[in-house]
Amino acid sequence: MQVPRLHPETIEEVKQRADIVDVISGRVVLRKRGKEFVGLCPFHDEKSPSFTVNQAKQMYYCFGCGAGGNAFKFLMELEKRSFSEVVLDLAKTYQVQVKTVEPEHRQELQRQISLREQLYEISALTAKFYEHALRQTQGQEPLAYLKSERQLSEETIQQFQLGYAPQGWETLYSYLVEQKHYPAQLVEQAGLIVPRKSGGSGYYDRFRNRVMIPIRDTQGRVIGFGGRALGDEQPKYLNSPETELFDKGKTLFALDTAKIAISKADQAVVVEGYFDAIALHAAGIANAVASLGTALSLNQVRQLLRYTDSKQIILNFDADKAGTQAAERAIGEIEKLAYQGEVQLRVLNIPDGKDADEFLKTYSPEQYLELLKTAPLWLDWQLQQMLINQDLKQADTYQQITKKIIKLLTNITDDNQLTHYLQKCAEILSKGDYRLTKMLADNLLNQVINDWGKRLSQDESLTMPLLIRKKLKPSKQYRKQTATSENNRSKESFAAVARTLLEEAEGQLLQIYLHCPEYRQDVRESIEAREVQFSLSHHRFLWHQILNAEILHKMSLQIAPSELILKLQDSLIEYPNQLNQISHLFHLNELSEKNVYRAPLVIRSTLACIEQIISMKRRRIALNMWEKTDAASNCEAALEYHQQFLAEQEWIEELERLRQVNFYDLISVPWSGNF
Ligand SMILES: [Zn+2]
Repeated sequence: MQVPRLHPETIEEVKQRADIVDVISGRVVLRKRGKEFVGLCPFHDEKSPSFTVNQAKQMYYCFGCGAGGNAFKFLMELEKRSFSEVVLDLAKTYQVQVKTVEPEHRQELQRQISLREQLYEISALTAKFYEHALRQTQGQEPLAYLKSERQLSEETIQQFQLGYAPQGWETLYSYLVEQKHYPAQLVEQAGLIVPRKSGGSGYYDRFRNRVMIPIRDTQGRVIGFGGRALGDEQPKYLNSPETELFDKGKTLFALDTAKIAISKADQAVVVEGYFDAIALHAAGIANAVASLGTALSLNQVRQLLRYTDSKQIILNFDADKAGTQAAERAIGEIEKLAYQGEVQLRVLNIPDGKDADEFLKTYSPEQYLELLKTAPLWLDWQLQQMLINQDLKQADTYQQITKKIIKLLTNITDDNQLTHYLQKCAEILSKGDYRLTKMLADNLLNQVINDWGKRLSQDESLTMPLLIRKKLKPSKQYRKQTATSENNRSKESFAAVARTLLEEAEGQLLQIYLHCPEYRQDVRESIEAREVQFSLSHHRFLWHQILNAEILHKMSLQIAPSELILKLQDSLIEYPNQLNQISHLFHLNELSEKNVYRAPLVIRSTLACIEQIISMKRRRIALNMWEKTDAASNCEAALEYHQQFLAEQEWIEELERLRQVNFYDLISVPWSGNF
């Protein structure tokens, strides 16, 4: 959506009203811990919470991935929206009147905001209309269907706002458009009516003679509908089309009522159909959601993972062919997460090909819970699927299965998992012959190692299980490549080590400046006295921003860290790229906190380190030039380069004494190489 520039007053007022804990807790489950709130970071996948929200500072920070900022930045990053869109949305939520810089745009703006609002309104009203119709004479048949065939209680029918779309082509149309005076175009945008193709103008109802199931977003607002045919009409299930409000790939049915149960049970169950989810909720198993008929998307999985600490998801799809394919597609979507152990995925197929709804008509909820407990992990499930109706005694079948198994094993990056499945697959292939199992396991491992070797020659940066790394010997070709590129490599590694050290040293210096007012004078004087500059551009950028902010706001050097950081964050909101690189400096973790305490030592050693790296670069250049110069023909120049080299050498050793005091234990990167 195109948004005109917002008036600074509006931005300021929104900032005042939209409390960060309130904003974030709508999207992440937060728990109070000490002065802060913690939760699972929505920006990276993690098992234990390292995402913190500080209410006093109105800031969030993730110790896992370094994401951090204020409420605006959180929504911008999470929902991939622009600054203005986020402010507008919050303005609406917190009822702040919106002013824009260009007054002529105001009307257009209001119109855009109100479009979504009106669509919510129409959808909610439609849900009520269908609910009402279910209680009329015309609703007798659908009500009987829900109560006897689906065996749903009055309470469940009301909880899910189930309803009935009456027969007739214009029932909803005449209610919304003629009676309630909503523009037909708007009702069409809500996906509820369809323009007539032939026979002139007008619209007809999309849903006719169907049991209606409202689909709600996580905040409980109706955004679309699923309609179940009563007779033999096709399709059996008809869904709302994608609209401004309804995005199938991002929505999970019943998540609004399931989210609390998911975090309580620390586990989410995903079923295929609306009535499976409803039946589970009715049976007291409320941590169930339905995937709206499409394959489960990565986006949907990430939503679920937000609510479960141990990342447990159980797919309970139908055991028929379509259900198996849907499970396989879902696994394909989230395979990478699963292989890395970032989601604990299980697949439940109910015996006799039943779905959850059918199962619960015969069996108790406890029996369903028992099935959940014993559901196989997804890799085991895949092995089972591979072996269905296969005769391993046939040589070609045996070979095919072995190939598939090796492919599966080569994808596992977790050591424990790999060991477990090597053994398990060997048992399967040996058909229980114990003497063969050990041999087969070794054989499988060798083939997996072989495959890894091939992959590695294409991409050296792969992370592999220790089990493979230990055994994998570089191939001849690989060794040859390494030898010829050794020279280049040492140059690269100097640059890499230097960069890592600079990142640490400069970062620490900036952190001391930000967090210790009493040492600011010290840092400044040392930098000026030694004529040192920040070498990394993002650090240089932050340093200039600090100096600018101090001048602009006439700050004293003693200004409180939180106040200085707040001012910086405000001025940095326009530079998201730089902000990403430096925002971790605004927060102290355990290590940096320790360093701040011994600031004087750190200032000395970090400056020495920065200077040393610059000196090393100069020494390198001198050495290069000396080597290139022919001493016989150009004796003077050669001598000068040599002396330069020696002088730098001496200076580097002197600096080494200064920084060695404590810098070694401050950094985790080993100082290696011979410069
Ligand atoms: Zn994170």
